[in-house]
Amino acid sequence: MSTPRATPRPERKPAGEGGIYELRNYRLHERMGQEELATVYRASHLTLDRPVHVHILRRHDWISASRFQLAGRLAAHLAHPSLLPVIDAGHDDTYGDYLVTPQIDARTLSAALADGPQSVMLTVRVISQVASALDYLHGQQVFHRDVQPANILVSQQGAAYLTNLSLAASPDTPDLSNIDEADYLTPYSAPEQRLAHGEASTALDVYSLGAVTFHMLSGEVPPAPGSDIPSLATRDPSLAPVDRVVRRMLAPQPGARYPTAAAAAAALRQALRGQIDLATDDMEESRWEASAEWLENPLETALGIQLDEAFKEFLARSRKRADDLHRRDVIRRMLSRWSRDGFFRHRALGQLVQPEQIVSYNIYSYELSTLYETRSEPRVRTRPQKPDERNSVQIIPDVWSVNVPVADTFESVKASDLPLPNSARIHTCPTCSGGSSIPCKECQGKGTVEKVRKVSNPNNTRTNETIPVTCPTCRGNGKSACLTCNGTGNIVEEYVFTYARRVEVWRGTDDIEDLPQLAIKKRLEPVFSSQITPYEGRWHSVAPLAELLRASIAEAGEDTRLGSAELKICGATITEMDFLLNEKSQRLYFVGFDNELIGDWSLLNPERIALAALAGVLLLIAFIAVATFFFGS
Ligand SMILES: [Zn+2]
Ligand SMILES: [Zn+2]
Repeated sequence: MSTPRATPRPERKPAGEGGIYELRNYRLHERMGQEELATVYRASHLTLDRPVHVHILRRHDWISASRFQLAGRLAAHLAHPSLLPVIDAGHDDTYGDYLVTPQIDARTLSAALADGPQSVMLTVRVISQVASALDYLHGQQVFHRDVQPANILVSQQGAAYLTNLSLAASPDTPDLSNIDEADYLTPYSAPEQRLAHGEASTALDVYSLGAVTFHMLSGEVPPAPGSDIPSLATRDPSLAPVDRVVRRMLAPQPGARYPTAAAAAAALRQALRGQIDLATDDMEESRWEASAEWLENPLETALGIQLDEAFKEFLARSRKRADDLHRRDVIRRMLSRWSRDGFFRHRALGQLVQPEQIVSYNIYSYELSTLYETRSEPRVRTRPQKPDERNSVQIIPDVWSVNVPVADTFESVKASDLPLPNSARIHTCPTCSGGSSIPCKECQGKGTVEKVRKVSNPNNTRTNETIPVTCPTCRGNGKSACLTCNGTGNIVEEYVFTYARRVEVWRGTDDIEDLPQLAIKKRLEPVFSSQITPYEGRWHSVAPLAELLRASIAEAGEDTRLGSAELKICGATITEMDFLLNEKSQRLYFVGFDNELIGDWSLLNPERIALAALAGVLLLIAFIAVATFFFGS
């Protein structure tokens, strides 16, 4: 295989000596710098006057072009606050392929690292944001595979953006990395990325995230995989707790790393908690970096990018809600408002509550309708021969290969007997021995029956007299048609089986035993409805759904098969918060998009309840006193 090499392309000069350079709808200003694949220009939209960055592909080989286009296509389908959006892309006759991104005031992390190690605060913020973007990508079955400081932008305010999806692996796109793998390895690449047939996985990106973390805190490029990782404590003793976290992220075995990027970032925040608390004391509006998490439901991972629109919309809404709630002042304000809105509620909860951990996630309920088809073992049935019926010489099929009435609808079909084709065998009728008629039962074949009538005798007595009359059943001919063979003289023995269809509905939910069940159930909204293949692996990776599927599959057996299955999923979103109140650990829930607050007695005001109780008792005493005064003896 020929090795595609980057062909440097003569640089056109879009900006500079007084010329006005235009690319489609954009006016190009000065050249900002160079990326791996593209040259970046500051530009503005001609009609909207919106400031943008235009990235113009600077390499000519087809791999670079394909990677550049892939990055554009992928980014266009993704939306996450820490992924740099691509707002336009195309091809220009003069300049070639280009991508347009919003102009953000940020520099690459590699440029920042040229100045040396970064602060704990910035490291935690950048790693958390990149981890959140990675988790989002992984949820869409997209693996970045090139997480490195050059692909991370950091703004003055500490907002981080993961960029450059040009090496990403996704189910919908060609894998461009295995063409000339070695070219794409960086000091941040996981060891298994070196193997030609390494599967793209979450673990790859978790390793690279660990390598970036190490670089940010130590100021050093991470050591090659497999070599000893120097302790961060040698530079700063307070970083000692991070060693364990970085080593786990950089574990040579993919399985030994954190299962998700978010889990790795959470561990990092945990390790640096003391320092973060010091730094955030005066940052009221900042995120609760140390404690707020989004937990992806296994269903969301299993469905990946095969989500339909309704589900995507629900997920986007629930993520947005969580992002909003995870800000320090939002929950404080909600708690304060809640305090004010009820007399018996604990006052000033917003100020008193010390949040420890906040997690948001979605809860799902499942309704699985399964259509079963039953075909019994064939059994012999005898019936009269039909006109022109012959013995069949063809092979008798298996009951399951017989065509049955097609039912498009997901409906039960009552049991009915269907013959097995080609199973008919013609025999002489045993009842009439082939004569097609049998002696008349009424007259035993005589043609006459005896009838009794009364006659009057001359002596005025009456006696009974028996006289023969023509048999009314056979009209005197003494025979009747054989009912067994319907007068054909032959009977047919054939196989029949009983066929039926029935629908069963199985219901289950995620484990909500310890959660506010009523509030959750009230808010479940439909997010997914589709026919599914119950045997398909991905559905079985979601525990409560797997349970339904297992039960529904177990219901099938030798003569019952599971036909189609229809899955309906409803979802509700929830946030739980662990907090300290009067030095005791408590938990409360915000349920649904309306954030209904559900907690225990700790949220109520004991003094006011005591006061109300006292007032009640006093009223009662007063009432009794008055009653005694008026009605007493
Ligand atoms: Zn017969
Ligand atoms: Zn008769």
